[in-house]
Amino acid sequence: MAVFHGIKQPFTFLSYPIPDPAPGAVVLKMRLANICGSDLHYWRGDADLVGRGFEMPYALGHEGVGEVFRLGAGVSTDSAGQPVREGDRVVFRYFDPCGRCAVCLRDHPYACPYRQRERLRGVRHWPHFRGTFAQYYYLYPGHTMFRVPEGLTDASVAGVNCALTQVISGLDRAQLRPGESVAIQGAGGLGLYAAAIARSRGAGPIIAIDGISSRLELARAFGADETVDITQADTPEARVQAVRDLTGGLGADVTLELVGHPGVVAEGVYMTAPGGRFVEIGNINVGWAGSFDPSDAVLRSVTLIGVAHYRARDLAAALAFVARESGRLPFDEMLASRFDLTDINDAFVQQDAGHVTRSALAPHPETSAQPT
Ligand SMILES: [Zn+2]
Ligand SMILES: [Zn+2]
Repeated sequence: MAVFHGIKQPFTFLSYPIPDPAPGAVVLKMRLANICGSDLHYWRGDADLVGRGFEMPYALGHEGVGEVFRLGAGVSTDSAGQPVREGDRVVFRYFDPCGRCAVCLRDHPYACPYRQRERLRGVRHWPHFRGTFAQYYYLYPGHTMFRVPEGLTDASVAGVNCALTQVISGLDRAQLRPGESVAIQGAGGLGLYAAAIARSRGAGPIIAIDGISSRLELARAFGADETVDITQADTPEARVQAVRDLTGGLGADVTLELVGHPGVVAEGVYMTAPGGRFVEIGNINVGWAGSFDPSDAVLRSVTLIGVAHYRARDLAAALAFVARESGRLPFDEMLASRFDLTDINDAFVQQDAGHVTRSALAPHPETSAQPT
């Protein structure tokens, strides 16, 4: 497995025996693992994992698709009750709400304070395989996983368990309604999915904002009606004005922040319509401070919604969405490049430099060379 040692340090490779799953657990063989924006934040040092209690060296990576390698005693189905066998491909939740704390009991499992408790631990502790940048991945008892329908490529489902489900969770919590306008700050993986989900909910106009023209083009393919190129609208004021112009002067009913930089929060709030909702997903970097004038949100009654993680049902919805739309939407094109896991350091450098949008790491190159 590839092992993370700290900010900007190269990954190294360690070997551990494949764990025997405990009763209720599952060991997956990873097929494809994406480098998500948050992995880049950790590697760059935007977010300090050590400061947050993660023990180094650490098994990084959470987004991807695997296949069942070994089922623990008592596991014979996925979380929807479909039978699973060794070799079946699955998508999985990479965190585990406890289901019995005060937060879970209030029906906010995505905010359960214990949801990553097991994953804080360093690689040296059994079962070692806590991250997806590895040949295997351990699903703890109480896990959530869903079998991938036949006929979908690995590439089309590798982004389901983080990026896609995250925006489904966000738009669900914003209660996006048909006919409402949506502004999407950042047309990376999450932004493209957001355009697709907003479109499927009957929203419009859907406005994607980014500075890379190929991303904006792809955003249109995924459902954006309009795009704002920040190399042209190169000030916050110009971008706010552009969104207002495209929405009859009011601003977007729902704005999604998917850039992950505190500098874009103010304009995101300002480009939201009176009575609208500003959904903050991208800024996961503890200690980064953004500033905006809160009176703008108060006087225009803009609701601020912070969204991390998701419910199990959101993951099921995300997989069903890809299954239904895979013939129509270019999911495979989201993964710009594929690297063997052994080239992980190169993949991080390239993605950090902006040369590739979302890389996929193949832990078993011989498996992922196959079409599905
Ligand atoms: Zn992620
Ligand atoms: Zn809980």
